[in-house]
Amino acid sequence: MFPVPNSTLPHWRTELHDLDSHRSTPELPDKQDIVIVGAGFAGASLAYYLLKDSPDPVQAERHDPGGQTGLLRRDWSEWCVLHRLFYLLMPMDHELVQSMSSGHLRPDVFSGVARCLQMRGLAIANEVGLFELANAEAVTALVRDEGIACDLTPVTSGCAFVDDAEGAKAKKLYDEMVALGCPTLEHVTYHGAEDAESVSGVKGAWALFTFPAATIWPYKMVMHLLALDIANGANLQTNTSVQEVSQTPDPDGYWTLKTPRGSTRARRVVFGTNAYTGAVLLEYKHAIYTNRGTCARIVPVAAVPSSESDSASPPRQPLASCGICVRSPGSMESYYGMQLDGSVIVGGARSSFRIPGQEGLWLRTVDDASLIEPAVPYFAAWAGKMLLGWEDVEGRVEKVWTGIMENTTDEAPHVGEVPGKPGLLICAGFEGYGMPNVLLCAKGLVKVMEDGCPFSETGVPACYETSLERLRAATQH
Ligand SMILES: Cc1cc2nc3c(=O)[nH]c(=O)nc-3n(C[C@H](O)[C@H](O)[C@H](O)COP(=O)(O)OP(=O)(O)OC[C@H]3O[C@@H](n4cnc5c(N)ncnc54)[C@H](O)[C@@H]3O)c2cc1C
Repeated sequence: MFPVPNSTLPHWRTELHDLDSHRSTPELPDKQDIVIVGAGFAGASLAYYLLKDSPDPVQAERHDPGGQTGLLRRDWSEWCVLHRLFYLLMPMDHELVQSMSSGHLRPDVFSGVARCLQMRGLAIANEVGLFELANAEAVTALVRDEGIACDLTPVTSGCAFVDDAEGAKAKKLYDEMVALGCPTLEHVTYHGAEDAESVSGVKGAWALFTFPAATIWPYKMVMHLLALDIANGANLQTNTSVQEVSQTPDPDGYWTLKTPRGSTRARRVVFGTNAYTGAVLLEYKHAIYTNRGTCARIVPVAAVPSSESDSASPPRQPLASCGICVRSPGSMESYYGMQLDGSVIVGGARSSFRIPGQEGLWLRTVDDASLIEPAVPYFAAWAGKMLLGWEDVEGRVEKVWTGIMENTTDEAPHVGEVPGKPGLLICAGFEGYGMPNVLLCAKGLVKVMEDGCPFSETGVPACYETSLERLRAATQH
């Protein structure tokens, strides 16, 4: 399924970047070394690492006095110059980084690790948890080092259980994980019934697990990265949907990509297409599937003062970011992140629309052009119902939007070389949790592409490596 036109507008896209509908050249070129399909966080990060340490084009020209006319020559300069021509292709009418996130850079160091532990065992759970922590640190360092203005704010995040039985189950898991020596738990603090509610500000919290995280304006971060990519030589082509990739490369070793603007060829094609990957890369149509999510921006308006001597005061501040869980280890009903301007971005609202028998409303659909209607009244009542001291606060819902999330049948991203298709690569399927996963997956995949590094030496968890076995298992799922 391809992205649909006229998607609902997320809060993040209220200030559009100059590059939002940018095309570096009016036409697609006939051929180049690498094409990245998809210009979200994954596509922008892949280009960033591919271009960062590649040779200076000025140097390449010095070695190749043919200059621009030498672009397609088969000699040393071909690698150098062609290598710098990346095409980041976007679907028609689907705005850049449309689906991005509710703005949490939140390594899932407790409930995510607990779930992974139950599915895959201790060693893999620890590997994945530490990888998410490393990613969060890498994103923070990137934002700092590149001077990216994206409101990245370090916060204490939480995982609050509002059901006593589930809270008790979560605590039992936590104790077991402590006994097993899970390293990510060094970053987790447990609060029981006596202070879970007061620390989190979440009404009725029975158990709370807090850990460091950050909130971020994802669109600003990705657009800044794309600007760096272009400055480093990338060619960005927005609003260009790749509809088809050839089954085999041509005799010169180039894969052909068909778009409504014509075809283009590349020796290597990386799919940073996340939820939509299976539409073009058909072998992934079972392995990566879509589900609709929704978010809202709520702006608190303090209660009207009852007399002139009273002044309207801002509401009690809850924990800056929190997931409100209904089942242990990891089933989030809703989650929120406080923004610098005092507004709250809330995501989830699951109980309002994930109703048995109504899977068509959210499962395996890519319709982000319409709202998930039952979620709209849910968001209107959310703040007063969920946050302590917000009963009298009118939470004005400024914006509600729909986004398409990516799930994989075995709950792990697909990263690496597409089985049986040398030259095609994938970095997708982030399970609705791309912020603490994408960057180092992209960096690892670039090591495979540039240095021929074995996947096992990329630092990316082994269970993320795409494989024929995983694809086969997905068809039987
Ligand atoms: C409502 C919602 C809330 C979320 N909240 C969070 C959160 O708080 N924290 C978190 O970590 N994650 C969150 N996520 C998930 C997060 O947004 C993703 O994991 C992240 O965006 C992954 O980045 P990506 O670049 O792989 O994919 P995307 O950002 O989806 O980018 C893929 C790009 O590829 C393009 N594309 C697809 N097919 C084609 C094609 N055929 N041709 C050309 N271009 C194509 C798409 O248009 C898109 O721009 C949320 C997602 C949603 C929908």
